[in-house]
Amino acid sequence: MQGNPSILNMAPLELGAVAAMIAIIGGGICGLGIGWRLAQSGAKVTVYDRGEAGMEATWAAAGMLAPHVEAEHGEEELLPLALESRDMWKGFARELHSETNIDVDYREEGTLVVGLDRDDVEHLEHRSAYFESLELDVEWLSGYEARKREPHLARAIGGAIYSPLDHQVDNRKVAEALKAAFLNTGGKLKEHTEVTEVVTSNGKVAAVKIAEETVAVEAVVLAAGAWSRNLAGLPEISRPPVRPLKGQMIAIQMDPENPLIENVIWGPGNGVVPSIYLAPKSDGRLIVGATVEEMGFDTGLTAGGVMELLRLAWDVLPGIYDLPLVESWAGLRPASRDDAPILGPTKTPGLVLATGHHRNGILLAPLTAQAISDYITTGEISSSIQPFLLDRFESSVAATA
Ligand SMILES: Cc1cc2nc3c(=O)[nH]c(=O)nc-3n(C[C@H](O)[C@H](O)[C@H](O)COP(=O)(O)OP(=O)(O)OC[C@H]3O[C@@H](n4cnc5c(N)ncnc54)[C@H](O)[C@@H]3O)c2cc1C
Repeated sequence: MQGNPSILNMAPLELGAVAAMIAIIGGGICGLGIGWRLAQSGAKVTVYDRGEAGMEATWAAAGMLAPHVEAEHGEEELLPLALESRDMWKGFARELHSETNIDVDYREEGTLVVGLDRDDVEHLEHRSAYFESLELDVEWLSGYEARKREPHLARAIGGAIYSPLDHQVDNRKVAEALKAAFLNTGGKLKEHTEVTEVVTSNGKVAAVKIAEETVAVEAVVLAAGAWSRNLAGLPEISRPPVRPLKGQMIAIQMDPENPLIENVIWGPGNGVVPSIYLAPKSDGRLIVGATVEEMGFDTGLTAGGVMELLRLAWDVLPGIYDLPLVESWAGLRPASRDDAPILGPTKTPGLVLATGHHRNGILLAPLTAQAISDYITTGEISSSIQPFLLDRFESSVAATA
């Protein structure tokens, strides 16, 4: 393969060479997506997951692909990355479907952010002006216009932002499809297999340890989600500052033939639920989330968390009152110190990071898969991920995240 050695010393791998085994630690949407792209390019790649692949944050998510309504002050650098990945999603979903026959429920109705009282509406007007300053395609709707679009919304709704390009998928189906696509393409998946240590030799990645076994590898992709920081053997200069950020969620069952809503709806939140969102899936599940809690690796549900989700969701969509509550769960977002992902090579040759995707890992999956696999096969870091290298944290990488 041709390509320039990267600034961080990783030459392109000679795919096909016996030793060119790539180990991916973590079989979430990031690890599986990268594995699929690498297997497509002819690499020998094994994804290790200590549990079942796709069953952590990837399973817990709501599946929203919402770079517009999630745009935040101070995160302007993330927006181009998010938009680029959003633009890749439709093709990614189509490719997964043709490869596996699994439909990942890509839905294009769009997203409505609604305000209830005068304060909410004023806040939304500011948000709308901010989105317009970023030249994002959004539309202001009166309460009446919002209810025309979604007749079951609460009568109190005083105004809304409609974002036609903020779409969604069923993230659980995406994980299922990615797993199948990866295996179909010749990738090896080792589930219930924890990588306990990354082994380096002369400062370079040499092997991964699995129970009593040491497997020689050419490169390691660390895609272990919220657990990425804790792996033994990582040189301190290459340890990603990622921490778990808990999110509680619930699912309410609607009639799939006659759902209460078709758009994703966002509404006002409170302390523990910064904004409430309701994401309707085509099988009738209405995903309602989410709390944002600094609770370490705790994934317990609390009465307070579930109560806030129900109360805030009921405020915007009172019709949920009589519907069955079918599921509740909590997942761990892999949050980095600046809330942006950590992508690409490190100062440890052979160690590549794909972690820290925080609340955007489903959205950023197609771009992550492509950019990391391109880096490994060509040695070139794409300009899209250049701002998201680990070295942006400079000397304080190993400090508390
Ligand atoms: C409540 C909630 C709602 C969300 N909603 C959205 C949304 O609507 N849109 C969006 O874009 N994003 C959303 N996210 C964020 C998104 O889910 C994550 O950013 C994304 O799933 C991260 O994927 P990942 O592959 O990095 O991590 P994960 O899916 O957590 O996968 C990491 C995997 O690594 C494995 N692992 C860990 N350590 C080891 C080890 N030592 N050896 C082997 N395997 C290991 C784990 O078992 C796990 O399967 C949400 C997250 C949460 C929690």
